[in-house]
Amino acid sequence: MRNVLFAISGPSGVGKGTLVKMLLDGDENLVASVSCTTRAPRAGETDGKDYFFLSRPDFEKKIAAGGFLEYDEHFGNYYGTPLAFVEKTLQKKSVILEIDVQGAMSAKAKKKDTVTVFIAPPSTEELLRRLRGRHSESDEQIAERLAREEYELSFAPRYDYTVVNDDLSEAYARLRLIIESERAKA
Ligand code: 5GP
Repeated sequence: MRNVLFAISGPSGVGKGTLVKMLLDGDENLVASVSCTTRAPRAGETDGKDYFFLSRPDFEKKIAAGGFLEYDEHFGNYYGTPLAFVEKTLQKKSVILEIDVQGAMSAKAKKKDTVTVFIAPPSTEELLRRLRGRHSESDEQIAERLAREEYELSFAPRYDYTVVNDDLSEAYARLRLIIESERAKA
């Protein structure tokens, strides 16, 4: 059995976080990568668990040293996947990156054997219903997220696999199959 780097993306509200948590809970040989960021920790976030919180100069030093598998800027802050963490963990276990479409494509470009999985909503209507159901976003924010969703969905054909999250347990079963079959490849 080989250890595999999985990059999982999908629009916000698609249930990606829930699915990744289920995968991690059910598999002791699967570990989530912890990203680095220059944004400030939010209440309840722990350094080294949610993110490695770095200053901007430290992040830039790490970029210059080739310390990231991929990195990007979102909302004025840097975010990146630390290469050493991923490489070291892959010696013992498979690693999962929950990452946006650009990040997944960059990771795959740099590390060709990365297995990319796109989690898609059954339909835009359903995604809209779920986003509204969360009651955490204004109409304007929901409109922004839908525009973003359209953009992210346009990347789906470039992924190795697409899993439609219509039924949570079915989507979970499909993801487990993908993970097992990729691990079993010679
Ligand atoms: P947040 O600040 O809400 O935790 O994350 C903001 C954005 O940064 C999200 O879209 C998230 O997917 C993205 N992000 C988090 N970690 C990484 C990373 O390691 N690389 C890239 N490219 N994006 C990331």
